[in-house]
Amino acid sequence: MRDYSHTSFWLATADPYVPSPPLQGDLHVEVAIIGGGFTGLSTAYHLRADAPGLRVAVLEAEVVGFGASGRNGGFSMTLFGLEPAVTKALFGHQRTLEAYRYMERAVDHVQALVQQHGLQSDYEHPGFLRAATTPAYARRIQHDLEILTSLGVRDIEWIEASAIRAEVDSPRFLGGWWEPRCGLLNPAKQARELRRLALAQGAQIFEQTPVLEISRGPRFTLRTPGGTVSAKKLVFATNAYSHLIPQLRARQVPAFTHMVITEPLTQAQLDTIGWRGRQGVEDARNLVHYLRLTADNRLAIGGSDVSLAYGADMARDHNSRTFADLERAVTWLFPGLRGVRFTHRWGGPVSVPVDLAPAIGQLGDRRALFSLGCVGHGVSMTHLNGRTLADLALERSTDLTDVWFVNRRMLPWPPEPLRMVASQAIRGALRLQDAFDERHLAQA
Ligand SMILES: Cc1cc2nc3c(=O)[nH]c(=O)nc-3n(C[C@H](O)[C@H](O)[C@H](O)COP(=O)(O)OP(=O)(O)OC[C@H]3O[C@@H](n4cnc5c(N)ncnc54)[C@H](O)[C@@H]3O)c2cc1C
Repeated sequence: MRDYSHTSFWLATADPYVPSPPLQGDLHVEVAIIGGGFTGLSTAYHLRADAPGLRVAVLEAEVVGFGASGRNGGFSMTLFGLEPAVTKALFGHQRTLEAYRYMERAVDHVQALVQQHGLQSDYEHPGFLRAATTPAYARRIQHDLEILTSLGVRDIEWIEASAIRAEVDSPRFLGGWWEPRCGLLNPAKQARELRRLALAQGAQIFEQTPVLEISRGPRFTLRTPGGTVSAKKLVFATNAYSHLIPQLRARQVPAFTHMVITEPLTQAQLDTIGWRGRQGVEDARNLVHYLRLTADNRLAIGGSDVSLAYGADMARDHNSRTFADLERAVTWLFPGLRGVRFTHRWGGPVSVPVDLAPAIGQLGDRRALFSLGCVGHGVSMTHLNGRTLADLALERSTDLTDVWFVNRRMLPWPPEPLRMVASQAIRGALRLQDAFDERHLAQA
């Protein structure tokens, strides 16, 4: 099998893996799912759990968890899109609340799946701290909190500097948002465990099986290198790769976010940072930093900036400037960790619609479905989206299929070179606002 160890720390350190064989020959199914990340695997599992007779096949170009699902920070959290203020500005109060409730349910769904099926993915449920590192970020967090509180959300609270530092001892933390509802997991293990669940339910999974061409008639015909699949229904679970599929070209673009991870911290190093509660932590930048401890007490940090790619280019996993920024951020946040060694550096694509919000939809008619656009917050959402997509594929109307971002109107990205100009402009505006909110730090 191809070597995927460079793809992420999680894939590099997971147990040796034997992928399912590629498709050889022709296959006839009711539902074909393109993409073996959390979305595709969760859809397959739920379809088979609800309709055991249904023939369901997942076709993955590389291996399960090759995409963002095997590379992410592992935060299973309630954030939808960028942040509540952005969702409210674009979609209004009521939709912000509906999205938040969906995301609460998504986090609970992941936790229930892990507990009910004994998934071995190092899942813990330590809660979430959104930490302010400048007064402007404190105001941004408090504004988001006011929005959610005014909508009746009661589970999140503002905590002062002394309280947040009692949890995670960074001298940079000025206060923050405390939310008990957040899990942390090892994403590569989670993807493989979802694969195990889907297989146990009777779904078929073909790895190293890229779908090269799709034609639409009374049934869909999918061409792969080793054979074709004839399917009554089709689910595009291709997320940040979706622009490579002609039918989804204008719906999203990939933006690449990067991560670095330390060696396991010594007890003395752990003592300098506190963090006994092991919460997931994000700051409040637009181009957020996210950080956590792993099961073996490494510190993993990601974010800081995103890399953009032109056209069909997907080779933006490595960015030495961002890796260096992230390594500096660790000692800026935790001076006691000066000299710590970093062992792995990697990146992956997140899916970005023009309006920075997730979408589930139909293409043409209800026989073809897609899910994309989770921006950087898709771990919990993709699991529940699998449940929602299964309902849609089974032509059921449920409280999940009724949410506003199912079949919502999406603005298209323009073709290149305008796409690059537009994505640079959005990134530039986000960076500018961050730089403004950090202006006092720059002077310090
Ligand atoms: C570095 C990083 C950190 C992140 N951290 C977090 C986090 O902490 N919390 C959070 O909530 N979200 C996070 N995210 C986002 C989250 O990981 C994603 O939203 C989520 O994993 C998307 O899952 P998916 O199954 O929809 O897509 P993916 O996991 O990307 O799966 C899509 C799959 O489709 C396959 N594919 C594409 N085209 C074809 C084709 N033609 N034929 C066959 N297969 C194809 C790809 O190979 C890929 O495996 C992060 C993302 C990255 C990159």
